[in-house]
Amino acid sequence: MNERDERGTVYLVGAGPGDPGLLTCRGAEVLGRAEVIVYDHLASPRLLDLAPPEALRICAGKSIGHMTLSQEAINALLVEHATAGRRVVRLKGGDPFVFGRGAEEAEYLRASGVPFQVVPGVTAGVGVTAYAGMPVTHRDDASAVAFVTGHSDPDASSGPQRLDWGALARFPGTLVVYMGVTRLPSLCCTLIRLGKPESTPAALVEAGTLARQRTVVGTLADLPERVAQARLGPPALLVIGDVVARRPALRWFEDLPLFGRRIVVTRPAGEADRAAALLEAMGAETLVAPTVEIRPLDDYGLLDSAIDHLADFDWLVFTSANGVRHFLDRLPARGRDLRALGRIKLAAIGPATAEALARWRLKADLVPDSFRSEALAEALAGHVAGCRVLLARADRGRTVLKDELERIADVVQVPVYQNADVPALPPAVAARLAEGLVDWITLTSSAITERLHALVPDSTHAAIERGAIRLASLSPVTSATASRLGWPVAVEASVYTWDGLVGAIAAYAGGEAGKTSV
Ligand code: SAH
Repeated sequence: MNERDERGTVYLVGAGPGDPGLLTCRGAEVLGRAEVIVYDHLASPRLLDLAPPEALRICAGKSIGHMTLSQEAINALLVEHATAGRRVVRLKGGDPFVFGRGAEEAEYLRASGVPFQVVPGVTAGVGVTAYAGMPVTHRDDASAVAFVTGHSDPDASSGPQRLDWGALARFPGTLVVYMGVTRLPSLCCTLIRLGKPESTPAALVEAGTLARQRTVVGTLADLPERVAQARLGPPALLVIGDVVARRPALRWFEDLPLFGRRIVVTRPAGEADRAAALLEAMGAETLVAPTVEIRPLDDYGLLDSAIDHLADFDWLVFTSANGVRHFLDRLPARGRDLRALGRIKLAAIGPATAEALARWRLKADLVPDSFRSEALAEALAGHVAGCRVLLARADRGRTVLKDELERIADVVQVPVYQNADVPALPPAVAARLAEGLVDWITLTSSAITERLHALVPDSTHAAIERGAIRLASLSPVTSATASRLGWPVAVEASVYTWDGLVGAIAAYAGGEAGKTSV
């Protein structure tokens, strides 16, 4: 445990503006050890996945501006859990101290004698503007920036939140207005009336850093009309100043190959993060929804006996990276180490499995050109006639490999891990599917496909059947399973790896972009 992390402490953590990748390392660290999380409406449910599964997750707000819990109730919750000795994370959008009432919560904690720490976050004013290609300062355009709330009425002449709009109209730099979308016409009018030139470049960015980011650019005079036409709504950030004109040269996020695509990644937990990261690097927004779970075996009898008799085998065959990990992890339990492998030859079904071996500094003697059981059986056929072959695999799955090899070799198949169905989709993913906010679902095995088919609601079946949600399949075997279930597959990887699958989605998306831009 990090020595700075104490039980009974509340961590006020900034979640960033939406893209889960914008959480800080320190934020991830405290979330990883949280016992209670009180979170505001978050653009990315993925941040909650960083907390231990048993952590208590309490939603404090449904959507921006509409709290389900009152501020008093939130304060009371934080104090209650902290004084019970729990590590509490208060997860807030953007930065906790920028228009987030984080200071009020901290003051309440101090007054209640509860220790707290603050983990700053990327505030929308910096994160959303950067993703929209607008620098908040620039040597030629703006040497100052003001973060302003648009929540207060610019026409109000008094009150605690009254802002000096005259001073803001004269402000020699960029104005970044939070919570300004509903009052946009009155904000722009007021600034013009108080002397800001009508021609000042201005932009509104909706849902910045997310797949659904949209930006409308204009001038102070015409932005309200343009925004009304495009029907932009909250959450949105208003940016006023010459830096807005830099956007054509600096835009980048919307130009990524998978920008705007919301993709459900159905890989088992543990593999999903790396898989999702690759999609996110290409601009996609991901939702992780494992449908099968990789678990240790209930009974190690068969595996242990195989490990004890490893010297009797000529070949050890792995059909997944999980198989490699669980097999080699079991060696110490039998009082053995890597030397137990001795002269045994190693086969891997594909590059990811070979890579898992390489992590243990083991080199696969055989990897077929095409990464499927049939190809592996064929490739092995030339080597294993009359040999003793040990197949290390999940407790369920296709038996092609065993059936094929048994004709020519002495084959022993042992389960090294369990492949168990998950009982339900994560609630956040189920909600997104129900709202129709998903563009793609990845399918990486027949077991995953079958389980997903059983788990998704009727509306998702309908969306998949009419092509509103597209399926991306890892291999012909997985595609055949989808087809058997009545699901059309939009793309199939030509190389049967995750990278191949991501490449296939990107190629499809590129084709779509090409069509729409003509
Ligand atoms: N503490 C937060 C701000 C909370 S106020 C922060 O530091 O960012 C909420 C306002 O932030 C919204 O009304 C909107 O103006 C802005 N905002 C937050 N996330 C946003 C996003 N993803 N895109 C555009 N604006 C956003």
